[in-house]
Amino acid sequence: MIEINKLVRPAILQLEPYSSARDEFKGKEGIFLDANENPFGTLNRYPDPHQSELKEKLGELRNINPTNIVIGNGSDEIIDMTIRIFCEPGQDKLLAFHPSYGMYKVAAAVNNVELVELQLNDSFQIDVGKLEPYLTDDRLKIIFICSPNNPTGNLINLKDIEFILQKFQGIIFLDEAYIDFANSDSSTKLIQKYNNLIVSQTFSKAWGLAGARVGVGYAQEEIISYFKKVKPPYNVSQLNQDAAIKAIENITQFEACKDEILNEKQRLTTALSNHKLVLKIYPSAANFILIEVTDADLIYTKLTQQKIITRNRNTYVPNCLRISIGTKDENDLFLCALQKIANEKSSVYR
Ligand SMILES: *Cc1c(COP(=O)(O)O)cnc(C)c1O
Repeated sequence: MIEINKLVRPAILQLEPYSSARDEFKGKEGIFLDANENPFGTLNRYPDPHQSELKEKLGELRNINPTNIVIGNGSDEIIDMTIRIFCEPGQDKLLAFHPSYGMYKVAAAVNNVELVELQLNDSFQIDVGKLEPYLTDDRLKIIFICSPNNPTGNLINLKDIEFILQKFQGIIFLDEAYIDFANSDSSTKLIQKYNNLIVSQTFSKAWGLAGARVGVGYAQEEIISYFKKVKPPYNVSQLNQDAAIKAIENITQFEACKDEILNEKQRLTTALSNHKLVLKIYPSAANFILIEVTDADLIYTKLTQQKIITRNRNTYVPNCLRISIGTKDENDLFLCALQKIANEKSSVYR
């Protein structure tokens, strides 16, 4: 067991969390004159600062105790709070891999925390040998691992994640934003075994609620207690909470949507596999595919001119575009636009 309190910033250890009106009186019945709310309207009351109903529903769904859950305003807030709990600005470091999700770098910079960036290997897996020397640096507080990885789409080998969990004395943040699309179990079950693991998920992707901003962190209760200290009490609006609760209650729609997206991913992959502008399709466990094309900047621009917006990841992985899986119609329009570019006389052939 790792002594988590030794990893937490002293300021956070000493912090008395804000006690909201809803903390001081927990009953549901009564005339509420305690929070300076407006007595009129429909959204006039502050939301539940503990998101209890959502945690209960989510706990049931994921087979996890609600006390092991923290809810954020998107998982981006979970990432930011994690850095603020563990990393002393200007002193501590965090480690992330490349190519991966760009927010780790931004969140590190916002908090004035040095980022160690390690290149993933040619299969976009962790080069454990290259990572090992960093594991003993006691200024290194957090390692971010994204699986399935964005923008590459692959799962990170579980044996490498477990190796790091066994060796590293700091916090491992496992970002599972796309795990529901993957044909693989979530690693949330590992939180029972490792008290330094935080697993994050989101309602933004498979649940179709990017507009609602609901992110989830799973960890042992000790880590959750630090989130409770730093979390703004009303970080997730009642609208967001209700949207997430409704989505969980409508699990059939969730499954149907997910299946449709996965079928479309398969169809799109097949359609692109012999395309003359496409040099490589990286295997994806997520709701997007990364493709290597003959000239990413040019094809990106030409697609945009036809109002098809893809993500140009050329600076992350040379000549790669990341394509989110859309509806059947949207994917057809994308394929059609790409074919049009391929048919141009001046186009770059393989
Ligand atoms: C989309 C995404 C998220 C989601 O962030 P939210 O703030 O929950 O919308 C988190 N991590 C990765 C890797 C993502 O691609």
